[in-house]
Amino acid sequence: MKNIMKFFIKIILPIFISIILYYLSRQISPDEQKYVYWAILFLTGGLFIFGVVQGSFFLNRCSKCGEWNAMEFVSKELVGSIRTNKVKELKKEIKNAQGEIVRTTTKQIMVPALKNTYKVYEKCKKCANIKVKTETEIVEI
Ligand SMILES: [Zn+2]
Repeated sequence: MKNIMKFFIKIILPIFISIILYYLSRQISPDEQKYVYWAILFLTGGLFIFGVVQGSFFLNRCSKCGEWNAMEFVSKELVGSIRTNKVKELKKEIKNAQGEIVRTTTKQIMVPALKNTYKVYEKCKKCANIKVKTETEIVEI
């Protein structure tokens, strides 16, 4: 539910407002339209930046002292690695006699890969509380 709200505020709402402003702007003079377009740009840009900043700000909260935007990266440690496969896309360009690309084809193949598990250590700027997160990453061999 929370995620749906976030999605609505960050994506649907700016698009919706932009569409309304766009339709309103069609009834006014071209000179005034310019301002409406700027307003749309600032509004969507502003909301987007706000969403990004807010996301990182809240995610970075210290679980011990509650300080906002407090966790700082300390180190990353590889704790495990298992063999796996990864889907890779192969793009092929088909050219004509003049060397112009006429079409591109994509083929999906499986390639060997490693699934690495890391422990990520973060430290609170205020109370020095250490938080350990687990991250995984799939890398092609
Ligand atoms: Zn803290």
